[in-house]
Amino acid sequence: MFNYRDVLGPDGLIARRRANYERRDAQLAMAAEVDAAIRDRRSLAIEAGTGVGKSFAYLVPAILHVVEDQVRDFSEDPDGAYFPFDAEGESDAEKTAPDVPAPSPDAAEEYSEDADEPFRVESEESVNADGVTPVEMRRVVVSTHTISLQEQLFEKDIPFLNAILPFEFTAALAKGRSNYVCRRRFHNAAKAASTGTLFETDLQKELTRIANWLDDCRDGSKSELNPTPAGEVWNEICCERGNCLGRNCKYHDECFYIRARKRLETAKLIVVNHALLFSDLAIRGDGNGGSILPNYDVLVFDEAHTMEQVAAEHMGLELTQSSVDYLLTRLYNDRTNKGLLVDEASQFKIGLDREIFIDAEKTVDDCRLRADAFFSDLNDWLDARPGSNGRVMEKNIIPNRLSAGLVSLREQLRRCADSLDDLNRRAEYVSACGRVDAYLLAINSWLEQSQDGFVYWLERASGRKSVRIEMRSAPIDVAPILRAQLFNVVPTVIAASATLTTRTHGSKKSGSDRGQTPPSDEPRAIAAEPDKETPETREAFEFFRSRVGMTGSRARALGSPFNYREQMTLVLAQGLELEGPNREEENERRLFAALQSYIEETEGGVFALFTNASQMRRATDALGRLLARENYPFFSQSDGAPRQRMVQMFKESSRSVLFGVDSFWQGVDVPGSALRNVIIVKFPFLAPEQPLVQARIERVKEQGGNPFRDYQLPTAILKFKQGVGRLIRTKSDVGQVVVLDERVHRKSYGRDFLRALPDCKLRVDVFN
Ligand code: SF4
Repeated sequence: MFNYRDVLGPDGLIARRRANYERRDAQLAMAAEVDAAIRDRRSLAIEAGTGVGKSFAYLVPAILHVVEDQVRDFSEDPDGAYFPFDAEGESDAEKTAPDVPAPSPDAAEEYSEDADEPFRVESEESVNADGVTPVEMRRVVVSTHTISLQEQLFEKDIPFLNAILPFEFTAALAKGRSNYVCRRRFHNAAKAASTGTLFETDLQKELTRIANWLDDCRDGSKSELNPTPAGEVWNEICCERGNCLGRNCKYHDECFYIRARKRLETAKLIVVNHALLFSDLAIRGDGNGGSILPNYDVLVFDEAHTMEQVAAEHMGLELTQSSVDYLLTRLYNDRTNKGLLVDEASQFKIGLDREIFIDAEKTVDDCRLRADAFFSDLNDWLDARPGSNGRVMEKNIIPNRLSAGLVSLREQLRRCADSLDDLNRRAEYVSACGRVDAYLLAINSWLEQSQDGFVYWLERASGRKSVRIEMRSAPIDVAPILRAQLFNVVPTVIAASATLTTRTHGSKKSGSDRGQTPPSDEPRAIAAEPDKETPETREAFEFFRSRVGMTGSRARALGSPFNYREQMTLVLAQGLELEGPNREEENERRLFAALQSYIEETEGGVFALFTNASQMRRATDALGRLLARENYPFFSQSDGAPRQRMVQMFKESSRSVLFGVDSFWQGVDVPGSALRNVIIVKFPFLAPEQPLVQARIERVKEQGGNPFRDYQLPTAILKFKQGVGRLIRTKSDVGQVVVLDERVHRKSYGRDFLRALPDCKLRVDVFN
């Protein structure tokens, strides 16, 4: 039967289509693993080095899975089936392929749900008597961490495969509802703005810009607007949960969000980001039978090295002072006398109805005072604990002065909603009630610390005028939650990344001599028997699989096809750090001098990766002007520029130098000679005082483990591999990775970092 080899193999469709096709054995091996996992309805953790071509390796078997009925017909009678290639090798489909595969109009017509209706979790049997998911119930979701990968999949890879494959399939990009403009809310906002009751004058101009865009936008989503619209305006006009009239809306038939949902329901392949995927899991997990995404039987979780972090971020609570302020100001701003309630009150000159809205304004004022007092109490609680990391270990650390006000506000908003016959106007109040309810739940849950196994903490963030308080919580261990909500529910989960494996010389199941092997002698690709996992593979994946709860899955690691011996030099700086007391300043001066010398060595083309924002700022202060004087285009994340913009500007010169922290260690792609020198300033250990990290360290200790060996070191190694992975993006890239962290020589675990790298040239620079 026609299979992935007929697409990816040396004589396959892609080889026939692309003149510069290169055989990639690792890609075929990965496709075989993905294909087998889907057929056997089991999960797979797969590490595929840079250059393997992992997106095609999972997309092709995934697509063949959802169109298996067509594949069978085609295999039985290839001459009778549609085949897209003409004599010159260009497919008919490719000549006419739309940019985005669209659902069939008939299927879209049959769609009957409204925007506020969740997809219902289907109740039919999801497998037939042979233990196979029927083709009509098959659907694949591909989840990514970064927008750049999402764009690559949806704008390049999927349209290409849609054009060359002799089968028809539909694909859709899923975005959260707040990404779409709501036409009804837009018209309401435009009307209110014209009476001057909603926005300041400068924000009204933003509405005019959006009105012009609406005339000929493609899918009505925010990403089409350049520059990005002001948050105050977008929040007033975007689609909101609980604020949709469904079929009662006069814009229903031309609603962007409804159209997007129709595309989702008919799509066999859906691309999402991790945030939306976890929101979907949360809604599925609440037991009410709803979901954001339609059901799927295969999930490909790409960039899976972020799985634990993203899961923790989305499974916890987050309530910020700014969000409470925002809701109250949106309802009634006493300083400017603008807001939703003012707009509504202005519709009635006198009478009971007007009084209802005036009363609600007074309740908002009361809530504002209560919110100020509540967050001020939390701030004082932090002040009373100088040097604290903000972690909260007891319940009800302050009196809850806010909830009573929010309960009154909810009642007032209900009265407002009940007084309005017009569904259009009423919807805003119903939605605001829902938001107040969510805040009440979050405040009570956080103060009561109601979720077992969660860590609770406070953070301070800089607001426009003052420090703002943020209340947060997160699960200490995401593994049991993911196991229950994901791995035990979805038949096949493929976790793919270039960095999933770790092997530390002290790890529980490793051999005792592992740390003694020089880096260049290590075998780089971990081979596995076709049907059984080797102990080495098990050990290498143990950390990842246990952290995310993927313990019953198969694992496979495939090395990169790049020739790192030719393409990459690892440079280890030695002697930068002087031992002895009070040497911090001098050592930092020596570190920055070395950083400068390595920038000059390659005449730019440098990413310097920091782990500490304060140290990056000091390095920026010490070197920024100097580098600019020497005509190096210099970009530092300390200056607050958006990441994408920094990367774009970096690529414009071969002499660019970029200083970055956290987000630059992963998900940034600069192929070619623009980036030829990655400098690792420090090994990327998580800050042990961060509350979630601290709680995880305690948890490992409680379980009898060694926190450094079992959690901190492997986490740092995975991130180190990501940082180093920024350098070689194509087979013609060459460059060096410089490690300035002295611990690479002084600590035994330094070798664990080196062993995680591919086999490459090594140079040691000794500083005196
Ligand atoms: S149906 Fe109407 S109210 Fe609902 S999201 Fe669409 S435009 Fe907005």
